[in-house]
Amino acid sequence: SDHQLTYPASPDLMDWASYYPAYISPQAAPEEPHGHDETRTKSLSKHVTVADIGCGFGGLLVALAPKLPDELLVGMEIRTQVTEFVQDRIKALRNQNADSGLYQNIACLRANTMKFLPNFFKRGQLSKIFLCFPDPHFKARKHKARIVSLTLNSEYAFAMKPGGIVYTITDVEDLHKWMVKHFEDHPSFRRVGEEQEAEDECVKTMMVETEEGKKVERNKGEKFVACFRRLEDPPWP
Ligand code: SAM
Repeated sequence: SDHQLTYPASPDLMDWASYYPAYISPQAAPEEPHGHDETRTKSLSKHVTVADIGCGFGGLLVALAPKLPDELLVGMEIRTQVTEFVQDRIKALRNQNADSGLYQNIACLRANTMKFLPNFFKRGQLSKIFLCFPDPHFKARKHKARIVSLTLNSEYAFAMKPGGIVYTITDVEDLHKWMVKHFEDHPSFRRVGEEQEAEDECVKTMMVETEEGKKVERNKGEKFVACFRRLEDPPWP
């Protein structure tokens, strides 16, 4: 439960360096003029810009790592053992690919994204958010546990830069309709057209590379995709 979760008090205090050691910024490393400062975290040469929310076993992260070589991607997962599995998987991939440096740009951390997303990301930091096969919470009284809602969509909007894309996929048609409705009703998002969606490499990857998606494939289930663009904020009156 949440009392065992660790999360930064604010995005500035997030220790990203331990997750992406290959990207530690050289200027930030040695002597600090005012001695050792516990609150200062080493900084990275770039920010995390892609988040896979409820990443499960990490298939999407691993598949996207070579396709988005200039971005840092993070998977966020609430289950401890699943998070550790993904962390071990990434460590092994980094070791096997030490020569090419592949997989240095992906990491997984344990988090309850329904509660602590703004602790990790600054305003406008993310260019892509993936919500792949989120838990459907079928019963009406459980709908509040869904990771798409008016409130949570506002948190996604806050963390995203204008022009950024939220990618959703599910095999549950009712949940698909729910996600479409809640993003279309939100003033910060507009659904991406079918043509543009079909051209997006990330959509193609998301369709086939997540563990849950593979399960749906084996069971010959249907997959419903919808993407939403983060709009510019309207000017102040
Ligand atoms: N995205 C993966 C895939 O497509 O294979 C996993 C899908 S699985 C059905 C949903 C995942 O979301 C589970 O691994 C679950 O532990 C995680 N999850 C559920 N609620 C979460 C939350 N509040 N914060 C982070 N992860 C969560």
